[in-house]
Amino acid sequence: MTRKARLSKKERMSRVLQYLGPRFGVVETELQYETPFQLLVATVLSAQCTDKRVNSVTPALFSAYPDARAMATASEEDIFPYISSVSYPNSKARHLSLLSRMIMEEYDGNVPQTLETLTRLPGVGRKTANVVLAVAFGQVALAVDTHVFRVAHRLGFVPASANTPYKVELALRQLIPDKDVAHAHFWLLLHGRYTCTSQRPKCTDCGLREFCVGPLAVKAK
Ligand code: SF4
Repeated sequence: MTRKARLSKKERMSRVLQYLGPRFGVVETELQYETPFQLLVATVLSAQCTDKRVNSVTPALFSAYPDARAMATASEEDIFPYISSVSYPNSKARHLSLLSRMIMEEYDGNVPQTLETLTRLPGVGRKTANVVLAVAFGQVALAVDTHVFRVAHRLGFVPASANTPYKVELALRQLIPDKDVAHAHFWLLLHGRYTCTSQRPKCTDCGLREFCVGPLAVKAK
């Protein structure tokens, strides 16, 4: 019987987090922001785009429109020039204008703090809402992006039938203690971004081979 077979999924997750924790330490989002509103905006902009690219446009955007009150006065056309170099700038400019107005009209200028209210905002899906809840408000929320999704599957934490980020989120939440959720999100994300990459994962450098069920995995000896 292999070591992997003897361990439950929770025990394997614990081992994985024990490995990743010291490698990455206490990490936060690589997006640059100063307020919950700015984090929300940056996270909306980061969809299908790199954090580095987003960080290159937000200083000027936040200088012109630092909060919901200021951005609510801006039209899609006003916002577009500031974010033209990120992916899908037209729809993101429209979403930022609309969500700012909704935050002013319905939440008195404050970013709402529940999943249900956040996902009512234009351009805000479950992943974006979970990032804001976890990072800006310290809530127990697990955002599943493409990296977390891939790593969860390759490490065998979720069944093949978990074919949506939502299903993966629910499965992972069963395995990760609440106190570890915030860190686990970033550790799994960074492992996926830098080691367990989508194409040509660096399996020979990976200390998680013994737990891996990925198609490209190099099994532990
Ligand atoms: S062994 Fe390779 S595929 Fe498996 S988790 Fe590590 S990097 Fe990813």
